[in-house]
Amino acid sequence: MEAQLLEGKKVAEKLRTQVEREIKEYAKQLMMPPTLRAIELGEDPASELYLKSQRRAAESVGIKHETTTLDSTASEADLIGEIERANRDPKVHGIIVQMPLPKTFQVDRVLDAIHPDKDVEAMTTSNLGKLVIHKEGLAPCTARSCIRLIEETGIDLFGKEGVVIGSSKIVGLPAFLLMIGKKITSTICHTGTFKSGMLESHVRRADVLVVSAGKPALIPGAWIKEGAIVIDVGINRVSGKTVGDVDFETAKKRAAFITPVPGGVGPLTTMTLMENLAQAISLQLKK
Ligand code: NAD
Repeated sequence: MEAQLLEGKKVAEKLRTQVEREIKEYAKQLMMPPTLRAIELGEDPASELYLKSQRRAAESVGIKHETTTLDSTASEADLIGEIERANRDPKVHGIIVQMPLPKTFQVDRVLDAIHPDKDVEAMTTSNLGKLVIHKEGLAPCTARSCIRLIEETGIDLFGKEGVVIGSSKIVGLPAFLLMIGKKITSTICHTGTFKSGMLESHVRRADVLVVSAGKPALIPGAWIKEGAIVIDVGINRVSGKTVGDVDFETAKKRAAFITPVPGGVGPLTTMTLMENLAQAISLQLKK
């Protein structure tokens, strides 16, 4: 039997209804519309696209979206100053710093200027640290979306074998940490695993496989364990088509559940960002 598709759009619509309800409640408590502020340095086409999808998702749940555009010649200190102003502003509940930043900027220093409770993309060292020790905080949207899709299968995850490929700060590592939190026995693989020739043996035992390497056809279908849950985060352009990191056609013959690319994780991430804003407000209200 072919795998069931885990489609991000359908799950995002369910999440949208839940987040809209929460935002309505918070708007009453705060006596103002919950607000997400994006800060950009000049205008960049990729950043404008992301801003557009943020605005659309925000409007669909009652969040006010604002963009502050600094001059493209602004310094790192100017940008940090703008972030600090937003940190202090009680009318701002979530902050996003739009990428890319100039090569001369220290990205980590800029991101760490965001107050952890307003860090809706969960890019600060503080929020990553909280994830490590399972302390309440915000988690990166793509990683959270992976877990939501895994839970969407309805399968009991307790004690299952999980394998994550890719150890980036925004996807692989937090997905791995969230999987541990779900009591999935988890392993993280990276270029070292690939180079040592061990990738296949790890993938073959995965009941839950999350692939986020950004390498087309990295995982052949023959490696997928029968009945596995396969979450393909990769986005690659190959001959004018968007494909993931898993060979979809062969993998869907062995997996029980699989995300298509496009249409899997991607469509869920922006709504998860709105879910993070709702959670950010709850953290702010506790203080
Ligand atoms: P990254 O380059 O920061 O990290 C890639 C990770 O994969 C690294 O840890 C690296 O060690 C590992 N890796 C690379 N080649 C490997 C190989 N041959 N074998 C094993 N591991 C290997 O990338 P990222 O930001 O985590 O993004 C990964 C992919 O996910 C990209 O295709 C990106 O476009 C996509 N992505 C999708 C979404 C979404 O919403 N769907 C969001 C973020 C990223």
